[in-house]
Amino acid sequence: MTVRVRLAPSPTGTLHLGTARTALFNWLFAKKEGGTFLLRIEDTDIERSKDEYINNIYDGLQWLGINWDESPIIQSNRINEHKKIIRSLISKGFAYKCFASESEINELRETQKRNGLAPRYDNRHRNLTPEQESEFIKAGREPVIRFKINDQKLISWDDLIRGKMTWNGKDLGGDMVIARRAPADTIGDPLYNLVVVADDSAMKISHVIRGEDHLANTAKQILLYEALDLKIPVFAHTPLILNSEGKKLSKRDGVTSISEFKKMGYTSEAMANYMTLLGWSLPEGINERFKISEVSEIFSFKKVNKASAKFDWDKLNWLNSQVIHDMSSRTLLENLDPLFKKNGWYLPNQEWGKHLVDLIGPSMVLINDGVDQAKPFLKNQN
Ligand code: GLU
Repeated sequence: MTVRVRLAPSPTGTLHLGTARTALFNWLFAKKEGGTFLLRIEDTDIERSKDEYINNIYDGLQWLGINWDESPIIQSNRINEHKKIIRSLISKGFAYKCFASESEINELRETQKRNGLAPRYDNRHRNLTPEQESEFIKAGREPVIRFKINDQKLISWDDLIRGKMTWNGKDLGGDMVIARRAPADTIGDPLYNLVVVADDSAMKISHVIRGEDHLANTAKQILLYEALDLKIPVFAHTPLILNSEGKKLSKRDGVTSISEFKKMGYTSEAMANYMTLLGWSLPEGINERFKISEVSEIFSFKKVNKASAKFDWDKLNWLNSQVIHDMSSRTLLENLDPLFKKNGWYLPNQEWGKHLVDLIGPSMVLINDGVDQAKPFLKNQN
């Protein structure tokens, strides 16, 4: 099988550690299999998507050494294709217009909550007659488009990390919205599960590798692949990254974006090394300090854990210090010089600078540590 994998980030924030780790596993797998690694920018949430985040994602990946093989696909450019697919689902009876209003749906959820039930749509508009539809339109209602989900259906796939997975149709929350509310004679903005299936299929993605928070989406997407008669890719769901308290790593943990780690003085080599270890168990006899290009030959999903990975600052710091200690004086000086200049400190000459970093290098953990340590020497120089 020709391996084609992709990272599909939403540019609604900076490149997150979890997304970068997903990128790494995709990239390592593509390298191992002689395949292709692609990028798709999922910018359909127009209000929250920003160009600065797209650039931050590109910069972060490049900094880590994760290069993509073809021009990135910009999802919003494909909206007409997405709408065409929605129309075909409606015409084949797999999808329909649902005129239930926001307040009716909220009311339904409240009742379910009161009765201790999980929230789900009750499929109330699945079989409207043309007369009922025109009544709603006359009353000024705008529909969403829903895809029918068969409650009786068992959905299964062989996950490369988690093995055989089975999901019950009845646990997917009822018929799923695939297009936002819009006037009845149009198709509203297509939504995540639909566009992902449309694009993964158009990009001929062979393996979808993403976080385990997408497990329920995978079940829904398999139903869409089947309805559209498209080839279903192989799935691999990577373990979540947790903080030291065992909770999902989030903004509250302080640093979560790659650009912030860079700013703090972590090296790209240590970051990429550490992220690979977040979930992947090294095969016997392999040193835990490596460059990602060195382990791509031996990467396999067989060694990716199902259990979540705990973020360990001590380990990352240790790896970073090792990378710094192994740097030549010249490289270390190249890393530090821009930071010195920011403080208005200039080196009398290169030789002097090299002696300085030879002195301070061995006790540095972060590149930025060099600034504090060089301060007494450089302040007096200028
Ligand atoms: N845009 C989705 C996300 O950032 C992509 C998920 C996927 O890989 O399908 O979570």
